[in-house]
Amino acid sequence: MKHQSGRHFLQIPGPTNVPDRVLRAIDNATVDHRGPEFQQMSKEVLAGLKHVFKTGSPVVIFPASGTGAWEAALANTLSPGDKVLMIETGHFATLWHTMAKKLGLQPEFIKGDWRHGADPATIEARLAQDTKHEIKAVCVVHNETSTGVTSRVNEVRKAIDRAKHPALYMVDTISSLASIDYRHDEWGVDVTVAGSQKGLMLPPGLSFNAVSDKALAASKSAKLPRSYWNWEEMIASNQDGWFPYTPATNLLYGLRVALKMLLEEQGLENVFKRHDRHAEATRRAVRAWGLEILCANPAEYSSSLTAVLMPEGHSEIAFRQVVLEHFNLSLGSGLTKLRDKVFRIGHLGDFNEPMLLTGLKSPVSRHCSIQRLPRSPLRHGGSLPRSGCRRTGEEALWAR
Ligand SMILES: *Cc1c(COP(=O)(O)O)cnc(C)c1O
Repeated sequence: MKHQSGRHFLQIPGPTNVPDRVLRAIDNATVDHRGPEFQQMSKEVLAGLKHVFKTGSPVVIFPASGTGAWEAALANTLSPGDKVLMIETGHFATLWHTMAKKLGLQPEFIKGDWRHGADPATIEARLAQDTKHEIKAVCVVHNETSTGVTSRVNEVRKAIDRAKHPALYMVDTISSLASIDYRHDEWGVDVTVAGSQKGLMLPPGLSFNAVSDKALAASKSAKLPRSYWNWEEMIASNQDGWFPYTPATNLLYGLRVALKMLLEEQGLENVFKRHDRHAEATRRAVRAWGLEILCANPAEYSSSLTAVLMPEGHSEIAFRQVVLEHFNLSLGSGLTKLRDKVFRIGHLGDFNEPMLLTGLKSPVSRHCSIQRLPRSPLRHGGSLPRSGCRRTGEEALWAR
Protein backbone atom coordinates (compact mmCIF):
# COMPACT_ATOMS: atom_id res chain seq x y z
CA MET A 1 0.00 0.00 0.00
CA LYS A 2 1.20 3.48 -0.87
CA HIS A 3 2.38 5.61 2.05
CA GLN A 4 -0.08 8.36 2.90
CA SER A 5 1.27 11.52 4.44
CA GLY A 6 -0.22 13.19 7.49
CA ARG A 7 -2.46 11.85 10.17
CA HIS A 8 -4.92 9.06 9.53
CA PHE A 9 -8.52 10.05 10.31
CA LEU A 10 -10.40 7.20 11.92
CA GLN A 11 -14.07 7.91 11.58
CA ILE A 12 -15.55 4.45 11.91
CA PRO A 13 -17.95 3.58 14.74
CA GLY A 14 -15.34 1.60 16.61
CA PRO A 15 -12.59 0.97 17.28
CA THR A 16 -12.37 4.69 17.94
CA ASN A 17 -9.50 7.15 18.35
CA VAL A 18 -7.41 6.42 21.43
CA PRO A 19 -6.33 9.66 23.15
CA ASP A 20 -2.57 10.14 23.48
CA ARG A 21 -2.89 10.21 27.28
CA VAL A 22 -4.45 6.76 27.22
CA LEU A 23 -1.78 5.45 24.86
CA ARG A 24 0.94 6.79 27.17
CA ALA A 25 -0.70 5.06 30.15
CA ILE A 26 -0.84 1.74 28.30
CA ASP A 27 2.85 2.23 27.55
CA ASN A 28 3.70 1.82 31.28
CA ALA A 29 5.89 -1.10 32.27
CA THR A 30 3.78 -4.20 32.91
CA VAL A 31 3.52 -4.84 36.65
CA ASP A 32 2.97 -7.89 38.81
CA HIS A 33 -0.78 -8.47 38.78
CA ARG A 34 -0.45 -9.99 42.25
CA GLY A 35 1.38 -7.00 43.65
CA PRO A 36 0.20 -3.93 45.63
CA GLU A 37 0.49 -1.41 42.79
CA PHE A 38 -1.83 -3.45 40.61
CA GLN A 39 -4.25 -4.06 43.46
CA GLN A 40 -4.58 -0.33 44.05
CA MET A 41 -5.18 0.33 40.36
CA SER A 42 -7.78 -2.39 39.87
CA LYS A 43 -9.77 -1.23 42.88
CA GLU A 44 -9.83 2.28 41.42
CA VAL A 45 -10.87 1.04 38.00
CA LEU A 46 -13.59 -1.30 39.27
CA ALA A 47 -15.09 1.55 41.32
CA GLY A 48 -14.82 4.04 38.45
CA LEU A 49 -16.64 1.72 36.07
CA LYS A 50 -19.72 1.66 38.31
CA HIS A 51 -20.05 5.38 37.77
CA VAL A 52 -20.06 4.99 33.98
CA PHE A 53 -22.63 2.16 34.03
CA LYS A 54 -24.62 4.10 36.66
CA THR A 55 -24.82 1.12 38.94
CA GLY A 56 -24.08 0.05 42.49
CA SER A 57 -23.74 -3.56 41.35
CA PRO A 58 -20.51 -5.31 40.39
CA VAL A 59 -19.02 -4.70 36.96
CA VAL A 60 -16.77 -7.52 35.80
CA ILE A 61 -13.96 -7.12 33.27
CA PHE A 62 -12.94 -9.81 30.80
CA PRO A 63 -9.81 -9.75 28.65
CA ALA A 64 -11.90 -10.16 25.48
CA SER A 65 -13.63 -8.24 22.73
CA GLY A 66 -17.30 -7.36 23.21
CA THR A 67 -18.35 -10.75 21.85
CA GLY A 68 -16.89 -12.37 24.97
CA ALA A 69 -19.14 -10.28 27.22
CA TRP A 70 -22.17 -11.31 25.11
CA GLU A 71 -21.29 -14.93 25.79
CA ALA A 72 -20.67 -14.30 29.49
CA ALA A 73 -24.10 -12.64 29.86
CA LEU A 74 -25.90 -15.68 28.39
CA ALA A 75 -23.69 -18.43 29.82
CA ASN A 76 -23.88 -17.18 33.41
CA THR A 77 -27.64 -16.76 33.62
CA LEU A 78 -29.35 -19.35 31.40
CA SER A 79 -29.74 -23.11 30.98
CA PRO A 80 -29.76 -25.30 27.86
CA GLY A 81 -33.04 -24.99 25.94
CA ASP A 82 -34.10 -21.76 27.66
CA LYS A 83 -36.26 -19.45 25.57
CA VAL A 84 -34.83 -16.00 24.99
CA LEU A 85 -36.52 -13.07 23.25
CA MET A 86 -34.22 -11.14 20.90
CA ILE A 87 -34.98 -8.33 18.49
CA GLU A 88 -33.59 -8.06 14.96
CA THR A 89 -32.38 -4.47 14.92
CA GLY A 90 -29.45 -5.16 12.60
CA HIS A 91 -26.14 -6.96 12.14
CA PHE A 92 -25.07 -7.03 15.80
CA ALA A 93 -28.44 -8.20 17.13
CA THR A 94 -28.29 -10.96 14.50
CA LEU A 95 -24.84 -12.06 15.66
CA TRP A 96 -25.98 -12.19 19.28
CA HIS A 97 -28.99 -14.26 18.21
CA THR A 98 -26.72 -16.68 16.31
CA MET A 99 -24.55 -17.01 19.40
CA ALA A 100 -27.57 -17.84 21.56
CA LYS A 101 -28.46 -20.68 19.15
CA LYS A 102 -24.88 -21.98 19.18
CA LEU A 103 -24.93 -22.03 22.99
CA GLY A 104 -27.97 -24.31 22.98
CA LEU A 105 -30.62 -21.72 23.85
CA GLN A 106 -33.90 -21.27 21.98
CA PRO A 107 -33.89 -17.64 20.93
CA GLU A 108 -37.01 -16.20 19.36
CA PHE A 109 -36.15 -13.39 16.94
CA ILE A 110 -38.65 -10.57 16.49
CA LYS A 111 -38.17 -9.53 12.86
CA GLY A 112 -36.99 -6.03 12.08
CA ASP A 113 -36.31 -3.88 9.02
CA TRP A 114 -32.85 -2.66 10.12
CA ARG A 115 -34.18 0.92 10.22
CA HIS A 116 -35.98 0.87 13.58
CA GLY A 117 -35.05 0.00 17.15
CA ALA A 118 -36.65 -2.56 19.45
CA ASP A 119 -40.36 -1.77 19.67
CA PRO A 120 -41.61 -1.70 23.28
CA ALA A 121 -45.24 -2.45 22.30
CA THR A 122 -44.28 -5.57 20.31
CA ILE A 123 -42.16 -6.83 23.19
CA GLU A 124 -44.98 -6.17 25.66
CA ALA A 125 -47.49 -8.05 23.50
CA ARG A 126 -45.16 -11.05 23.10
CA LEU A 127 -44.42 -11.24 26.82
CA ALA A 128 -48.10 -10.91 27.71
CA GLN A 129 -48.79 -14.04 25.62
CA ASP A 130 -46.14 -15.95 27.54
CA THR A 131 -48.38 -16.70 30.51
CA LYS A 132 -46.23 -19.66 31.61
CA HIS A 133 -43.15 -17.43 31.75
CA GLU A 134 -41.13 -19.68 29.50
CA ILE A 135 -39.11 -16.74 28.18
CA LYS A 136 -36.15 -16.39 30.51
CA ALA A 137 -34.50 -13.29 29.08
CA VAL A 138 -35.13 -10.30 26.81
CA CYS A 139 -32.01 -9.15 24.93
CA VAL A 140 -31.78 -5.72 23.30
CA VAL A 141 -28.91 -3.98 21.53
CA HIS A 142 -29.02 -0.40 22.84
CA ASN A 143 -27.17 1.21 19.95
CA GLU A 144 -27.25 -0.91 16.78
CA THR A 145 -23.88 -0.03 15.28
CA SER A 146 -24.74 -1.37 11.83
CA THR A 147 -27.71 0.97 11.35
CA GLY A 148 -27.22 4.00 13.61
CA VAL A 149 -30.45 3.30 15.49
CA THR A 150 -30.69 3.61 19.28
CA SER A 151 -33.36 1.54 21.00
CA ARG A 152 -35.33 3.04 23.88
CA VAL A 153 -34.00 0.82 26.63
CA ASN A 154 -36.02 2.49 29.37
CA GLU A 155 -39.25 2.16 27.36
CA VAL A 156 -38.57 -1.54 26.85
CA ARG A 157 -38.12 -1.89 30.63
CA LYS A 158 -41.53 -0.33 31.16
CA ALA A 159 -43.02 -2.70 28.57
CA ILE A 160 -41.59 -5.73 30.44
CA ASP A 161 -43.05 -4.35 33.68
CA ARG A 162 -46.48 -3.73 32.11
CA ALA A 163 -46.52 -7.36 30.97
CA LYS A 164 -45.60 -8.28 34.58
CA HIS A 165 -43.01 -10.65 33.16
CA PRO A 166 -40.09 -11.94 35.27
CA ALA A 167 -37.59 -12.37 32.38
CA LEU A 168 -34.07 -11.09 32.85
CA TYR A 169 -33.30 -7.97 30.84
CA MET A 170 -29.95 -7.90 29.01
CA VAL A 171 -28.67 -4.93 27.06
CA ASP A 172 -25.68 -4.60 24.71
CA THR A 173 -24.18 -1.12 25.19
CA ILE A 174 -20.95 -1.80 23.32
CA SER A 175 -21.31 1.29 21.11
CA SER A 176 -23.33 3.46 23.49
CA LEU A 177 -21.68 3.29 26.91
CA ALA A 178 -19.98 6.62 27.68
CA SER A 179 -21.46 8.13 24.48
CA ILE A 180 -25.23 7.96 24.96
CA ASP A 181 -27.17 8.25 28.21
CA TYR A 182 -27.40 4.84 29.86
CA ARG A 183 -28.51 3.86 33.38
CA HIS A 184 -28.08 0.22 34.43
CA ASP A 185 -29.80 0.54 37.83
CA GLU A 186 -32.50 3.10 37.10
CA TRP A 187 -33.60 1.30 33.93
CA GLY A 188 -33.73 -2.05 35.70
CA VAL A 189 -31.25 -3.84 33.46
CA ASP A 190 -29.97 -7.19 34.73
CA VAL A 191 -26.90 -7.63 32.57
CA THR A 192 -25.24 -4.80 30.68
CA VAL A 193 -22.71 -5.84 28.06
CA ALA A 194 -19.98 -3.39 27.02
CA GLY A 195 -16.60 -3.20 25.31
CA SER A 196 -13.49 -1.04 25.55
CA GLN A 197 -12.95 0.13 21.99
CA LYS A 198 -15.86 2.47 21.36
CA GLY A 199 -17.11 5.14 23.78
CA LEU A 200 -14.49 4.19 26.37
CA MET A 201 -11.69 5.36 24.05
CA LEU A 202 -9.46 2.31 24.53
CA PRO A 203 -8.05 -0.17 22.05
CA PRO A 204 -10.04 -3.42 21.63
CA GLY A 205 -9.38 -6.08 24.24
CA LEU A 206 -11.57 -5.48 27.30
CA SER A 207 -15.24 -6.27 27.74
CA PHE A 208 -17.64 -5.84 30.61
CA ASN A 209 -20.74 -7.19 32.32
CA ALA A 210 -22.61 -5.10 34.87
CA VAL A 211 -24.57 -7.64 36.91
CA SER A 212 -27.75 -6.99 38.92
CA ASP A 213 -28.70 -8.93 42.08
CA LYS A 214 -31.39 -10.71 40.08
CA ALA A 215 -28.84 -11.80 37.45
CA LEU A 216 -26.47 -12.97 40.18
CA ALA A 217 -29.25 -14.99 41.76
CA ALA A 218 -30.08 -16.52 38.35
CA SER A 219 -26.43 -17.49 37.90
CA LYS A 220 -26.60 -19.72 40.98
CA SER A 221 -29.01 -22.13 39.28
CA ALA A 222 -28.14 -21.53 35.58
CA LYS A 223 -26.82 -24.68 33.91
CA LEU A 224 -25.04 -23.58 30.76
CA PRO A 225 -21.40 -24.61 31.09
CA ARG A 226 -18.97 -21.77 31.77
CA SER A 227 -15.49 -21.59 33.14
CA TYR A 228 -13.47 -18.70 31.73
CA TRP A 229 -16.59 -16.50 31.80
CA ASN A 230 -17.72 -17.48 35.29
CA TRP A 231 -18.82 -14.41 37.25
CA GLU A 232 -18.60 -16.07 40.64
CA GLU A 233 -14.82 -16.43 40.84
CA MET A 234 -14.34 -13.08 39.12
CA ILE A 235 -16.53 -11.15 41.55
CA ALA A 236 -15.03 -12.94 44.55
CA SER A 237 -11.44 -12.07 43.49
CA ASN A 238 -12.37 -8.51 42.48
CA GLN A 239 -13.51 -7.74 46.06
CA ASP A 240 -9.86 -7.34 47.02
CA GLY A 241 -8.64 -6.01 43.70
CA TRP A 242 -7.54 -9.35 42.24
CA PHE A 243 -8.49 -11.42 39.20
CA PRO A 244 -8.85 -15.21 38.90
CA TYR A 245 -6.51 -15.24 35.86
CA THR A 246 -4.07 -12.79 34.33
CA PRO A 247 -5.91 -9.57 33.51
CA ALA A 248 -4.99 -7.31 30.59
CA THR A 249 -2.75 -5.25 32.89
CA ASN A 250 -1.76 -2.53 30.45
CA LEU A 251 -5.25 -1.98 29.09
CA LEU A 252 -6.39 -1.45 32.67
CA TYR A 253 -3.79 1.33 32.98
CA GLY A 254 -5.40 2.86 29.92
CA LEU A 255 -8.88 2.39 31.35
CA ARG A 256 -7.92 4.23 34.54
CA VAL A 257 -6.96 7.29 32.48
CA ALA A 258 -9.98 7.04 30.17
CA LEU A 259 -12.30 7.03 33.20
CA LYS A 260 -10.51 10.11 34.55
CA MET A 261 -10.91 11.89 31.22
CA LEU A 262 -14.67 11.24 31.18
CA LEU A 263 -14.91 12.84 34.63
CA GLU A 264 -12.71 15.77 33.61
CA GLU A 265 -15.19 16.65 30.89
CA GLN A 266 -17.28 17.73 33.86
CA GLY A 267 -19.45 14.73 33.95
CA LEU A 268 -20.96 12.19 31.67
CA GLU A 269 -23.83 14.56 30.89
CA ASN A 270 -21.41 16.80 29.02
CA VAL A 271 -19.95 13.83 27.20
CA PHE A 272 -23.46 12.88 26.03
CA LYS A 273 -24.21 16.46 24.97
CA ARG A 274 -21.05 16.55 22.86
CA HIS A 275 -22.09 13.31 21.14
CA ASP A 276 -25.63 14.67 20.55
CA ARG A 277 -24.22 17.84 19.00
CA HIS A 278 -21.85 15.99 16.67
CA ALA A 279 -24.63 13.63 15.61
CA GLU A 280 -26.98 16.51 14.83
CA ALA A 281 -24.27 18.27 12.80
CA THR A 282 -23.67 15.08 10.86
CA ARG A 283 -27.35 14.59 10.07
CA ARG A 284 -27.63 18.16 8.82
CA ALA A 285 -24.63 17.61 6.55
CA VAL A 286 -26.12 14.39 5.20
CA ARG A 287 -29.40 16.15 4.41
CA ALA A 288 -27.55 19.00 2.73
CA TRP A 289 -25.87 16.43 0.48
CA GLY A 290 -29.36 15.24 -0.47
CA LEU A 291 -28.72 11.78 0.96
CA GLU A 292 -30.93 9.69 3.20
CA ILE A 293 -30.26 8.72 6.82
CA LEU A 294 -30.87 5.00 7.36
CA CYS A 295 -32.54 5.41 10.77
CA ALA A 296 -36.25 5.90 10.01
CA ASN A 297 -37.39 7.18 13.40
CA PRO A 298 -35.99 10.54 14.60
CA ALA A 299 -36.66 9.47 18.21
CA GLU A 300 -34.12 6.69 17.64
CA TYR A 301 -31.31 8.62 15.93
CA SER A 302 -27.96 7.45 17.25
CA SER A 303 -25.58 9.94 18.77
CA SER A 304 -22.55 7.73 18.23
CA LEU A 305 -22.81 7.09 14.52
CA THR A 306 -24.87 7.96 11.43
CA ALA A 307 -25.54 5.40 8.70
CA VAL A 308 -26.14 6.95 5.28
CA LEU A 309 -27.79 5.33 2.24
CA MET A 310 -25.79 5.68 -0.95
CA PRO A 311 -27.69 7.10 -3.92
CA GLU A 312 -29.16 4.31 -6.05
CA GLY A 313 -26.59 2.94 -8.43
CA HIS A 314 -23.55 4.03 -6.41
CA SER A 315 -21.28 1.83 -4.37
CA GLU A 316 -20.34 2.66 -0.77
CA ILE A 317 -17.32 0.37 -1.09
CA ALA A 318 -15.95 2.35 -4.03
CA PHE A 319 -16.84 5.62 -2.29
CA ARG A 320 -15.02 4.75 0.94
CA GLN A 321 -12.03 3.56 -1.03
CA VAL A 322 -11.78 6.89 -2.81
CA VAL A 323 -12.15 8.79 0.47
CA LEU A 324 -9.38 6.68 2.01
CA GLU A 325 -7.07 7.22 -0.95
CA HIS A 326 -7.68 10.94 -1.25
CA PHE A 327 -7.92 11.97 2.39
CA ASN A 328 -6.44 9.17 4.50
CA LEU A 329 -9.85 8.98 6.15
CA SER A 330 -11.65 5.76 7.11
CA LEU A 331 -15.44 5.64 7.09
CA GLY A 332 -17.47 2.62 8.30
CA SER A 333 -18.65 0.01 5.80
CA GLY A 334 -22.11 -1.45 5.22
CA LEU A 335 -22.49 -4.72 7.13
CA THR A 336 -24.10 -7.92 5.77
CA LYS A 337 -27.54 -6.88 4.43
CA LEU A 338 -26.35 -3.30 4.05
CA ARG A 339 -23.12 -4.15 2.23
CA ASP A 340 -22.38 -1.73 -0.58
CA LYS A 341 -25.60 0.17 0.24
CA VAL A 342 -24.75 2.13 3.35
CA PHE A 343 -21.69 3.85 4.74
CA ARG A 344 -21.34 4.84 8.37
CA ILE A 345 -19.86 7.95 9.92
CA GLY A 346 -18.57 7.31 13.42
CA HIS A 347 -18.69 10.31 15.77
CA LEU A 348 -18.10 8.68 19.12
CA GLY A 349 -15.28 8.53 21.60
CA ASP A 350 -12.44 11.02 21.69
CA PHE A 351 -13.75 13.41 19.09
CA ASN A 352 -14.05 17.15 18.51
CA GLU A 353 -15.43 19.57 15.94
CA PRO A 354 -12.39 19.90 13.66
CA MET A 355 -12.13 16.12 13.45
CA LEU A 356 -15.81 15.86 12.62
CA LEU A 357 -15.63 18.61 10.02
CA THR A 358 -12.73 16.89 8.30
CA GLY A 359 -14.87 13.83 7.88
CA LEU A 360 -17.92 15.76 6.72
CA LYS A 361 -16.08 18.02 4.33
CA SER A 362 -14.39 15.24 2.41
CA PRO A 363 -17.57 13.42 1.46
CA VAL A 364 -19.15 16.77 0.61
CA SER A 365 -16.59 17.39 -2.07
CA ARG A 366 -16.85 13.82 -3.21
CA HIS A 367 -20.57 14.13 -3.29
CA CYS A 368 -20.28 17.12 -5.59
CA SER A 369 -18.41 14.87 -7.95
CA ILE A 370 -21.01 12.12 -7.57
CA GLN A 371 -23.53 14.71 -8.63
CA ARG A 372 -21.60 15.48 -11.76
CA LEU A 373 -21.64 11.88 -12.88
CA PRO A 374 -23.96 11.40 -15.83
CA ARG A 375 -26.06 8.68 -14.20
CA SER A 376 -27.07 9.81 -10.78
CA PRO A 377 -30.65 8.72 -10.21
CA LEU A 378 -31.14 9.50 -6.57
CA ARG A 379 -33.29 7.41 -4.31
CA HIS A 380 -35.59 10.38 -3.82
CA GLY A 381 -35.93 11.11 -7.50
CA GLY A 382 -35.40 14.85 -7.26
CA SER A 383 -32.21 16.71 -8.01
CA LEU A 384 -29.63 17.37 -5.36
CA PRO A 385 -29.69 20.62 -3.49
CA ARG A 386 -26.87 22.80 -4.75
CA SER A 387 -25.90 24.12 -1.34
CA GLY A 388 -22.56 22.86 -0.15
CA CYS A 389 -21.64 22.02 -3.72
CA ARG A 390 -20.50 25.42 -4.80
CA ARG A 391 -17.22 25.42 -6.62
CA THR A 392 -14.68 25.71 -3.88
CA GLY A 393 -11.05 24.95 -3.51
CA GLU A 394 -12.12 21.59 -2.18
CA GLU A 395 -13.02 20.34 -5.59
CA ALA A 396 -9.48 20.82 -6.73
CA LEU A 397 -8.49 18.20 -4.20
CA TRP A 398 -10.48 15.63 -6.11
CA ALA A 399 -8.99 16.58 -9.44
CA ARG A 400 -6.05 14.23 -9.00
C1 LIG B 1 -18.73 -3.63 18.12
C2 LIG B 1 -19.99 -4.22 18.59
C3 LIG B 1 -20.09 -5.57 18.95
C4 LIG B 1 -18.97 -6.56 18.75
O1 LIG B 1 -17.97 -6.38 19.62
P1 LIG B 1 -16.52 -7.00 19.36
O2 LIG B 1 -15.68 -6.17 20.25
O3 LIG B 1 -16.23 -6.84 17.90
O4 LIG B 1 -16.57 -8.41 19.76
C5 LIG B 1 -21.29 -6.03 19.45
N1 LIG B 1 -22.34 -5.22 19.58
C6 LIG B 1 -22.29 -3.93 19.23
C7 LIG B 1 -23.49 -3.07 19.40
C8 LIG B 1 -21.12 -3.39 18.72
O5 LIG B 1 -21.07 -2.11 18.36
